[in-house]
Amino acid sequence: MKKTILLAMLFAAAIGVASAQEPRLEDLHDQTILVFTPHPDDDVFGAGGTIALLNRNHNKVYIVIYTNDDKGSYDLEMDSQRLARIRKAEEEVSEGLLGTPTENISWMGYDDGMLEYAPQPKLVEEATAIIRRVRPDVLLSVDPGEWYERWHKTDHRMAAFNTVDAVRAAEFWLYFPNQRLEQGLQPYRVPVMYFFYPSPQEANYWVNIDSVFDLKVEAATKQVSQFDPAVEKYRPDWEPAALAGVKEEFKKQHPMKDGHYVEAFRRATGFIQY
Ligand SMILES: [Zn+2]
Repeated sequence: MKKTILLAMLFAAAIGVASAQEPRLEDLHDQTILVFTPHPDDDVFGAGGTIALLNRNHNKVYIVIYTNDDKGSYDLEMDSQRLARIRKAEEEVSEGLLGTPTENISWMGYDDGMLEYAPQPKLVEEATAIIRRVRPDVLLSVDPGEWYERWHKTDHRMAAFNTVDAVRAAEFWLYFPNQRLEQGLQPYRVPVMYFFYPSPQEANYWVNIDSVFDLKVEAATKQVSQFDPAVEKYRPDWEPAALAGVKEEFKKQHPMKDGHYVEAFRRATGFIQY
């Protein structure tokens, strides 16, 4: 009997199933939440509803963006510096609608599409310092994702792997010991992580975002330059008809579960869990 219970517990831990006592992510209050995102839109598209719920519950939400997203435009008149400025402004408006203050958004400043070619020790050291400084109760990050993201979105892969490597490093002070010796950053163990953009086979946690769904759609469509027609030929605003069409499409394509709008996550309780 005992063995059966032990096995069940081990199994639950291995697949990251929340125990009955643990509060749901969307019910957390007054906690510190740290979100790592490869680009300044994945946090909104992948977890915007959850972020809105967390902000509504007076949690402190910090967003860290790996890249400045300065390449993804087909507009031949566009340049990288301008695009980075546009994407930054859009992200601030977008996250602001979800309740995240601008001062809680930080930019690691890597070039779009180049994260995989950045010096890896530096990349993981920087993310480790952020984790040790913010000391989150909950960490959200991107997963390598579904097939499309996994194979064609270099920054998603790298941000996913780098964040988990930093979670591991943050626990053991001998990784980057100067962070403790010179900056007073103590080691930190992240208690729980939720990865957005999980593959369907690996998703194990769903947050009902019905109550903030319209807000999420509004926030997502503030990222004007990510959508047609502005991604083809930049314009700072929408034609009303185009906006209505995009919102409709967004709603149609948004993941649903049991008749509710949901955001899917892979929940894990440590870097060795999966
Ligand atoms: Zn992205």
